[in-house]
This record gives sequence, C-alpha cells and structure tokens, in this order.
Amino acid sequence: MSNLKDLNLSLSTLAIHADEHLAPCTDIAPPLHVSTNFRYPSDPSLLGGPMPHIYSRDSAPSTSRLETTLASLLGGETVVYSSGLAAFHALLVNAHPKRLLITEGYHGCHGTAALFSKLTGMAILPLSTPPQEGDLVHIETPINPTGIATNIEEYAERAHAAGALVSVDATFAPPPLQDPFAHAADYVMHSGSKYFGGHSDMLAGTLSVRSKELADKLRGERLYLGATMGNMEAWLGLRSLKTLELRVTRQSASASVLAGWIKAQLAVEGSVVQQTVKEVTHASLQDGGEWLQRQMPGGFGPVFSLVLKSEEMAKTLPSKLLLWGHATSLGCVESLIEWRGMTDTGCDKRLLRLSIGVEDVGDLRRDLERGFEGVVGL
Ligand SMILES: *Cc1c(COP(=O)(O)O)cnc(C)c1O
Repeated sequence: MSNLKDLNLSLSTLAIHADEHLAPCTDIAPPLHVSTNFRYPSDPSLLGGPMPHIYSRDSAPSTSRLETTLASLLGGETVVYSSGLAAFHALLVNAHPKRLLITEGYHGCHGTAALFSKLTGMAILPLSTPPQEGDLVHIETPINPTGIATNIEEYAERAHAAGALVSVDATFAPPPLQDPFAHAADYVMHSGSKYFGGHSDMLAGTLSVRSKELADKLRGERLYLGATMGNMEAWLGLRSLKTLELRVTRQSASASVLAGWIKAQLAVEGSVVQQTVKEVTHASLQDGGEWLQRQMPGGFGPVFSLVLKSEEMAKTLPSKLLLWGHATSLGCVESLIEWRGMTDTGCDKRLLRLSIGVEDVGDLRRDLERGFEGVVGL
C-alpha cells in the first residue's frame, strides 16, 4: 500500500489492489479464513510482543484486509462491524453525546438511538435544533426513503462552531458518489449490507474516521461491544468491493434516468404515469443548487421513491413486475421495489421505494411501465 499510495490511483484501481500487500499467499482471489484463534509464537522471547491476530473478535485476516481496502476507498481509517446498526451503536458509544441531533431517515437508527437513550438519558432532537458543545449531529444523506440530499457542509459548519461533532450515514451514496470527509464530517458510517456487499448476501457495517488513533480506539471498543464482522462476510466483502465502482456508477446513472423519465411522464396528459403516480423524489430532481453538485460530483444515489395515487396501487404494483423483486433492503445488483409500509410503519402508505440494480435501464423502465398499466384505476 505504501508504494501504491504514491501513485495517486483512482478508486476503481484501489478497489482491486489496495489490499494486495496483505495477501498471505500467491492466490489471486483472497482466501477464505475461518479460524477464530491464531497460534502464539513458538519463541518464548516473542510472547507479549505484537501479533498480527490473536482472536477474531479482535481482528482476523479477512476483516483486516477489508478495513484496508475500505480505508483507501472512503478516505479515512475504517472499522467494520456485524451490521450497519452495530456501527451506529459503536458511533454512539464512542461519541457518547448528551444530545443527538438527527435527520429523520432510516427508522432502524432511530430504534438504536432510542435504546441508547434509555441507557444513558441522551436527548434525541431534530437536526434543525441549534447545536451545543458536546452534541453529535447525525446526518443521513441522501435520506431514506426519498433519496433527497442534505447539505453536509451547512450543518457541519454550524456544529463545529458550537463544539459539536458531525457524523454522516452515507449508506445511500457510497464511493464514488459522495465523500463526506471532503465536507467536514468527523465520522462516516455505512450499512455495508447495501452497496459494499452489493449482492444481497452479507450483513455488515462500517465506521470511518480521520485518525488512526480514533480508529484504534473504536477497535478497542468493538472488542467489548462484541459486534465483530464474521469471517465469511469479510471475505464476501473483499469480493464485492472489487466491482463497487462499476456497480454504483451504473446504478446511480440508471436511477437518474428512471426518476427523470417518471418526472417527465407526470407532465404528459393522460400518460399511465400521470394516472398512477402522485410524486417522485430523488436528489437528481432536487433544487439543490451549487452545493448539491459539489457534494455529489459522482452522481446521485441509486434509490428513489414514488408516492402513488392510492395505497391499493402501491400495495399491488410490485406484484405486476417481472424484473423488480418485492423485498426490503437496497444496494444489491438486483433491482428491488418495496411497499415501504411493510417495514416502516410510520411512512406514507402510498410510498414505494425503488433500489436500482445493474440490469439494463430500458428493460427496467418497460417493466415499470407495465406495472403502472396494471394498477390504473385501483
Ligand atoms: C440499512 C441501513 C442501515 C442499517 O444497516 P444494517 O446493516 O441493516 O444494520 C442504516 N442506515 C441506512 C441508511 C440504511 O439503509
């Protein structure tokens, strides 16, 4: 890595090569390590000295490789966890704020915050609250489920001026779409179950920070939180990151095409979209001005939402589609659509969340059009 660093390599190259120096043998594909424990040195004089790995709740070969690759892609020291919510919990434990100022967004993070608040008395307040010293300002952007972006710099400036810290849940815009560190974030969090895994087969979370000291502190705390990522998942993650840039670039471009098509059709008198859709939301359709282009130079997130004209339409449309899976979660190669009322009881019952996969965008559009035709009049 040390000599690769000097080459100023791009994201797609780093995703393939950043962890190569950690390969224990000559395999091209990373090997699958399953051991939970590692032999101590046979030389007694080396006992008590540094060791690469001791016990996998602390560290293991595949998780260390994954953290190395992620650090090079995310631009900050990265610690991996068993799930996105485990990473968010670890963030709260590390920052230990008296007050959490938080965007609406993913309901699971609010559940974790409520548990943490029960234990510590931490206050949970809306993002618009004026920050005070010692607060944690947590911004999910783009936000679940609408895909709309929030100006990180604006909130970070206010937070830092007051002596508060800023964390960003950037799950909906992984690299190369957005770099929250470039906009003054102190912590960057991802549900790795989404784009980092990318294939609907791995649960993971990541927390990135600016300094090695803080990352080591997070690793020390993870040892006792026990929220370690599994060996198998880390191996899957290594496989998946190699195509991150290819997947995310395609997914992001297709999302903007589809959201733009629906927006345009909404204005076409008598169109099937106009007969079924009330609203489409996505950062590509947002009037964000200059900051939005600066914050998301690589494209917008691959998730957007539709509000249909009735709850019945929203519940029925997924059953009319051939290519879109009706399921929760997002970020995978398969396109998914979810009647969001299934998992988020607080949301609009007419809302459908779409996660764009890597299929051909024309095929996806035609399937959606068939779906809209199938629910007209419901
Ligand atoms: C999925 C998700 C999480 C939680 O991640 P898990 O890996 O499911 O625990 C957190 N934030 C956002 C924005 C998510 O989409």
